[in-house]
Amino acid sequence: MYCRKCGSTINEKAKFCDSCGEEVKILRQRSDTQKFEEMNKNKTKKVKKDKREEKYKDLKNPYIIPALGTAVIAFSLAIFPWPVSWGVGTSLWMRIAIVLIVLLSDYHCTKARQMNNLYSIQYNYLVQPQLLKVATTLSVITTIVAMFALFSV
Ligand SMILES: [Zn+2]
Repeated sequence: MYCRKCGSTINEKAKFCDSCGEEVKILRQRSDTQKFEEMNKNKTKKVKKDKREEKYKDLKNPYIIPALGTAVIAFSLAIFPWPVSWGVGTSLWMRIAIVLIVLLSDYHCTKARQMNNLYSIQYNYLVQPQLLKVATTLSVITTIVAMFALFSV
């Protein structure tokens, strides 16, 4: 064993260096094998983490796009006055169509919320929650407008 400070040989059991008086501290050196093993451990951890993230990415909430699509269509038909002869205030069939489309949207919104609840319980993960909020808001507004128009013929 050698002194850390002056490099002279010291007794294995000595607490201080004979030449310079430096306190002998035994540093436990990690062997290369240990380092290698630790490195591999970190690597496998990282790989596992990546795989999990990929799984999350693969998860898609299949109800969000239909929910948003039908909400936007129903909302557009109900709100925009073009073409002028359409719109929620004009024909009964138009109102019925809007109500049907918006009910479809409500259904898909509900399904999407259920899926997201499942995801959050199983994986602590939500799929496109902002889009779902937009779809839900649109379909709720359109439901109210369309129902009101339908029953106030
Ligand atoms: Zn020394």
